[in-house]
Amino acid sequence: MSKALVCSCEDVTVSDVKHAVSRGFCDVESVKRYTGFGTGICQGKNCLSAVASLLEREKALKADAVVPFTPRPPLYPTELRVLASAPVDESQPPVGGVPQELEHFASALRPEGSVPAKAKVVIIGGGIMGLALAYNLALRGETDVVVLERGYLCAGASGRNGGGVRMQWGTPALIELAKRSIDLMKDFARDLGVNVWLRQGGYIFLAKRKDVAERLERNAVLHNKYGVPTRIITPDAARDIVPGLTMKDCLTAAYNPEDGVIFPWAFLWGYAQGCQKRGIKVETYTQVTGFETSNGQVRKVKTDRGDIACDTVVLAAGAWSPEVAKLVGVQLPNEPHRHEILSTEPLKPFLAPLVSVLDTGLYFSQSMRGEIVGGMGDPLEPSGLNMGSTLRFVKRFAEALIEQMPQVGSVKVLRQWAGCYDVTPDNNPVLGRTPGLDNLLQMSGFVGHGFMMAPAVAERMAQWMTRNESDELFTRFNLRRFAEGKLEREDMIIG
Ligand SMILES: Cc1cc2nc3c(=O)[nH]c(=O)nc-3n(C[C@H](O)[C@H](O)[C@H](O)COP(=O)(O)OP(=O)(O)OC[C@H]3O[C@@H](n4cnc5c(N)ncnc54)[C@H](O)[C@@H]3O)c2cc1C
Repeated sequence: MSKALVCSCEDVTVSDVKHAVSRGFCDVESVKRYTGFGTGICQGKNCLSAVASLLEREKALKADAVVPFTPRPPLYPTELRVLASAPVDESQPPVGGVPQELEHFASALRPEGSVPAKAKVVIIGGGIMGLALAYNLALRGETDVVVLERGYLCAGASGRNGGGVRMQWGTPALIELAKRSIDLMKDFARDLGVNVWLRQGGYIFLAKRKDVAERLERNAVLHNKYGVPTRIITPDAARDIVPGLTMKDCLTAAYNPEDGVIFPWAFLWGYAQGCQKRGIKVETYTQVTGFETSNGQVRKVKTDRGDIACDTVVLAAGAWSPEVAKLVGVQLPNEPHRHEILSTEPLKPFLAPLVSVLDTGLYFSQSMRGEIVGGMGDPLEPSGLNMGSTLRFVKRFAEALIEQMPQVGSVKVLRQWAGCYDVTPDNNPVLGRTPGLDNLLQMSGFVGHGFMMAPAVAERMAQWMTRNESDELFTRFNLRRFAEGKLEREDMIIG
């Protein structure tokens, strides 16, 4: 094993890269996420070519499949206070952004050979939902399952999120799902052999407006009823928990010490490896292009590597779910909405909880690697599958963060990126059978909280699919509710 460094920013060695290859992660985007190479101060400028040639040398990839990953802006580490003063016209809606995300992945990345001709269950989407469901099906003895992913495993929102996990929700269904998920996460290292770096430093929600403060107060009562120890705290108490918070214009705060953050990539790899170990086929760089149906059933899923006959299909394509559903004539109410996020240079641990100003959608936490990771919603963001990064976002974020924590003004932003929330009209997921297409199961619409819901939702869904018993979750959140107007709106949405 060679301990020679490939990426000195993140201490990634030749043997780390070879280890990633041995696990089947061979293209540079996957290896970046598996090892962390290229995520430090140099953004891959010094290590990308070394990793690419190592992959070629290992014969992990054909030469024309070595597509370099795209470095993220700002290309040079830049102070938050400099970004806060960027000349941006905030009255204009955000447009474009860099880098432009790839519509199509290089065909050289597509695996050779065709997909299995038949499978009991085909899951569309290799994000956290699809993989967690496949893993949970395997735990219940169902391994004739194929997961189809059009890109690499972290290509969607699951590879782009903030890793926040919280029980502070506005409806009992989500409170209970989040509680169960966090319990399952605690056992992740033992069950799946990966450390997801769960750190229960709490979540503090700040409220500036009276109606938002009242919402926090109302929800805290509900949380306590469900065993979540949320408490309303004064601005002074919030400053005791996070020294340096200005609490500017804040009326009140809600704090649950049992909420926390995890490291998203490891979480996804854990499920992927758990699936593969149990014989589930995870087919990356394989795009679903259509369906064959008859008598109210999907008979085949068509892909760019061949067709798969199946008994059950699960649509877990996140923000792409509406466009995939359209291929089989199903209209989903979901809309993709870009959400931008960034990460700074690492700092010594100073911030235990994730802090969020609910009125503006600002949130920030400190990762186990010491980086401040944070984002902020944008009320002018139009719907669409846009994953470019904008100067407008970093400016708005930097201003809002410095308003709450002036002492971080000189901290440098290392990289920013974006992903899409998969938004439904009531901020709740779409789950269960599709009216008129009995064996097409929906598993989408997780807005900005799918990551923390995945363990519990996947557990319930696998149980429901294998036991054939009814479960109210799949009635409550069925697609039918939008036509019937039975919407129960979730109001604790950040962004
Ligand atoms: C910036 C940001 C911050 C977030 N922060 C948090 C947070 O702190 N906590 C939290 O819990 N959640 C957070 N979320 C939300 C969370 O990331 C998502 O809800 C969750 O990852 C959704 O998982 P998924 O599997 O449904 O979708 P995805 O991860 O998007 O997976 C869907 C997959 O389907 C694939 N696909 C699409 N079309 C096809 C096709 N035709 N054929 C085959 N495959 C296809 C895509 O490539 C994609 O990989 C955040 C999201 C964003 C964007």
